[in-house]
Amino acid sequence: MSIVSNSLKRIKPSPTLAVTQKARELKAAGKDVIGLGAGEPDFDTPENIKQAAIDAINRGETKYTAVDGTPKLKVAIVEKFKRENKLNYETKQISVGTGGKQIIYNAMMATVNPGDEVIIPAPYWVSYPDIVLLAGGNPIIIECSENENFKITPEKLKNSITSKTKWLVLNSPSNPTGSCYSENEIKSLAKILIENKQVHILSDDIYEHITYGKFNFFTIAQINELKDRTLTMNGVSKSYAMTGWRIGYGAGPVEIIKAMAKIQSQSTTNPSSISQAAAVEALNGPQNFIMERSKEFQERRDFVVKSLNEIKDLSCINPDGAFYVFPNCSKCLNKKDKKGKLLKTDSDFVESLLENNGVAVVQGSAFGLEGYFRISYATSTQNLKNALKRISEFCNSLS
Ligand code: PLP
Repeated sequence: MSIVSNSLKRIKPSPTLAVTQKARELKAAGKDVIGLGAGEPDFDTPENIKQAAIDAINRGETKYTAVDGTPKLKVAIVEKFKRENKLNYETKQISVGTGGKQIIYNAMMATVNPGDEVIIPAPYWVSYPDIVLLAGGNPIIIECSENENFKITPEKLKNSITSKTKWLVLNSPSNPTGSCYSENEIKSLAKILIENKQVHILSDDIYEHITYGKFNFFTIAQINELKDRTLTMNGVSKSYAMTGWRIGYGAGPVEIIKAMAKIQSQSTTNPSSISQAAAVEALNGPQNFIMERSKEFQERRDFVVKSLNEIKDLSCINPDGAFYVFPNCSKCLNKKDKKGKLLKTDSDFVESLLENNGVAVVQGSAFGLEGYFRISYATSTQNLKNALKRISEFCNSLS
């Protein structure tokens, strides 16, 4: 009999991390691979943030901290919500964890009972369903099509709510599609949620600062009637290029925040003291570079979307945020690659693209929607140019 627990058997390892790992291995073996799988900015953490960490070490801030965040960081987070989202929280409504992922994990572990349902619009970030499964809940996957810009409609939301629904997960800007919910779209969803008082909302705002053009970021906790039922998750990973520092945070009802702290106290104790000091500087320090980075991401998005739409048998909608696009490759399926392999699924497509033309992307089915793939354009323009040329050659080689 296996030593592995039954609850672990319900989940799979993160497919996005698996692609990154495979690309790394091929590169190490000397293969010429361009990785478009990574979910992290390609630029470095700003100097002032790094210096704040060094200063913290020199001051001796190298010990355990309060379980769910230092008072200083909690105050910086409260100020961030006030300044950027017009949301008022008290520090006891804030939880800091080891990355945004741990905040979601703690929230699900702390609230989900066996049989509870969690509505997850697809395409979704790969970890939501598995975290819900690990917590003993049932992920209710609602497919949102390209025609709907990959977003859940009020009608679909209404039809998916039952008496067992505990949470709705909303992620805007989205990983993997880059789609963003406008204020009006959020208000339409809110109407349904206000009527269904058993539903809590997990709003994953981790890509908040990466939006383009005239898009105005709006988060569901800004709807007064829903604030007491919303856990807003955010963090420094993507906005401040701090993925390795592992700092994420949540804001919401005290009952949930307290329960999350209980889990953290029996698992990781507290997020790294040094990373917390760096996060204080990230939130309180200069913010100009966020706009500059966004501009650069927007130029890359424009290039990638235009190039994809010029490729035979691919099409791609132009999203408002994040650093991902989610092109449709369904017209490439049921064709053969140059080695004669039949591409039946988007996984076959992605595998053949990597093997034949050396570009690593992630299949749409990993995110709950078949017939697509995800490109992360958080890499240099030169890499993107080379990769798009290879993708074009690959698609042209199919017959
Ligand atoms: N939410 C989404 C949508 C993400 O894409 C990610 C990271 O890829 C996270 C949460 C987790 O972020 P962190 O690195 O802070 O754990």
